[in-house]
Amino acid sequence: MGKPTGFIEHQRELPEDRAPLERVRDWQEFHHHMPEERLREQGSRCMDCGVPFCHTGTLISGMASGCPINNLIPEWNDLVYRGLWHEALERLLKTNNFPEFTGRVCPAPCEGSCVLGLNETPVTIKNIEGTIIERAFEEGWMAPRPPEKRTGKKVAVVGSGPSGLACAAQLNRAGHWVTVFERADRIGGLLMYGIPNMKLDKQKVVQRRVDLMAAEGVQFVTGVEIGRDLPAAQLRAEFDAIVMCCGATKGRDLSIEGRQLEGIHMAVRFLHLNTKSLLDSQHADGEYISAKDKNVIVIGGGDTGTDCVGTSMRHGCKTVTQFEIMPRPADTRQPNNPWPEWPKVYLLDYGQQEAKARFGDDPRQYLINTKRFVGDAQGKVKELHTVQVEWVKGDNGRPFPKEIPGSEKVWPADLVLLAMGFLGPEDTMLEQLAVERDERSNAKAQYGRFATNVEGVFAAGDMRRGQSLVVWAINEGRGAARECDRYLMGQTQLP
Ligand SMILES: Cc1cc2nc3c(=O)[nH]c(=O)nc-3n(C[C@H](O)[C@H](O)[C@H](O)COP(=O)(O)OP(=O)(O)OC[C@H]3O[C@@H](n4cnc5c(N)ncnc54)[C@H](O)[C@@H]3O)c2cc1C
Ligand code: SF4
Repeated sequence: MGKPTGFIEHQRELPEDRAPLERVRDWQEFHHHMPEERLREQGSRCMDCGVPFCHTGTLISGMASGCPINNLIPEWNDLVYRGLWHEALERLLKTNNFPEFTGRVCPAPCEGSCVLGLNETPVTIKNIEGTIIERAFEEGWMAPRPPEKRTGKKVAVVGSGPSGLACAAQLNRAGHWVTVFERADRIGGLLMYGIPNMKLDKQKVVQRRVDLMAAEGVQFVTGVEIGRDLPAAQLRAEFDAIVMCCGATKGRDLSIEGRQLEGIHMAVRFLHLNTKSLLDSQHADGEYISAKDKNVIVIGGGDTGTDCVGTSMRHGCKTVTQFEIMPRPADTRQPNNPWPEWPKVYLLDYGQQEAKARFGDDPRQYLINTKRFVGDAQGKVKELHTVQVEWVKGDNGRPFPKEIPGSEKVWPADLVLLAMGFLGPEDTMLEQLAVERDERSNAKAQYGRFATNVEGVFAAGDMRRGQSLVVWAINEGRGAARECDRYLMGQTQLP
């Protein structure tokens, strides 16, 4: 620890975001950078606490506590404080292939378990991580590093989200020839076509990494769906191993009266088309679902829903409301959610900040359930009928949302976005390869081994663990690469 009194002298400080009403006018990222001196002060707040819970990455009460990829946080905090940026980068790259992604979009479970957070505000770990890697790109330290020797083995990675990319980067480092197959027209999975541009810039950040990996020897094939355009059996015949990183892309639908009406869409389709049209033509082609001048209702209070709110704000929606069936979280940690668990507290995320700045209030409505959609004579959705709920325990002891009589309400709506999570991976490729499923329909492969029941076929990321986070996808992609390398070579040096 470079500065024993750093956490006493300095308060937690983050760079200010762009003002909500200014940033909704464009699709640029909304985070500003911090001057070096102030960032080093933030690094000095790390206490070198002895047992750094921030990098443990364990699951407590089903939620991540600490960094799932075990970033060596206290080490690089200290190196940043001392101004040793290159050394900090070296430590960071030991555990994280893509700090520029996590430094922007990770919910930072590390900060939830920071020891300083017990009685103070936690260290700004995520911002420091993101700054180290951006500095490295600016300084020209992120030059391509292809492996010195090739093994001659060929691996197919299917799916180019963060798990597929992490897996490909690691296998390539081990000297294998890696081909990444992606059915979309651009590489990145949900990094490209889920998370919107203002949170993670596609050209400057995602494509920059893809270009670097290509320069290191990873081959990318877009527009090819394995199981449809190319039979999975052919892949097995042509490659020594396959790692499936296809995500959990089956969205949860809402099968209620009126679902067939025009104007009701799955959130990921709305987000995908928006980003594609933005990148293809700055929206000039009109090939996206516009929220302009519409009353928008987003059903689902999670990250995906927030991204729909932020996107609708940028389209210029008339109103935006976000429904959440769960209660509003408390403002501070509750006794049943102690440190170092992930803090389940009320937060105003970027989309809600923007809606509040324009319309005066947080757009979220809690404890609300949609009963039916009602349309006009042309078959277009025009309103939603809802009821308030309370959570009570059923006969089986499980809580369920009980409707409150007399709480029915009608909401005008021209555009409804369904953001209620995901059910699991798609079937085609798994069926063609005869890969077993677990009880939640995910690809069955033990965590840590990542091998499926089919020899030489591995699974990682959301496809194996269900809908999760970018940081877990990176963790799984790295793990699957290690086990695939062991399978191919009989041993492995990969972490
Ligand atoms: C809208 C949205 C916002 C999110 N925001 C955040 C966030 O802010 N922070 C965070 O940590 N997490 C966030 N998440 C979750 C995170 O994006 C995922 O957990 C993560 O991307 C999973 O990575 P993956 O590599 O397993 O799968 P994915 O990123 O889903 O990538 C899978 C890829 O496989 C491709 N594919 C599927 N089948 C085939 C096939 N047969 N052939 C070829 N290609 C195929 C798909 O086209 C896709 O590109 C968000 C998720 C969504 C939907
Ligand atoms: S990857 Fe996420 S959890 Fe890990 S150090 Fe970075 S922000 Fe924290």
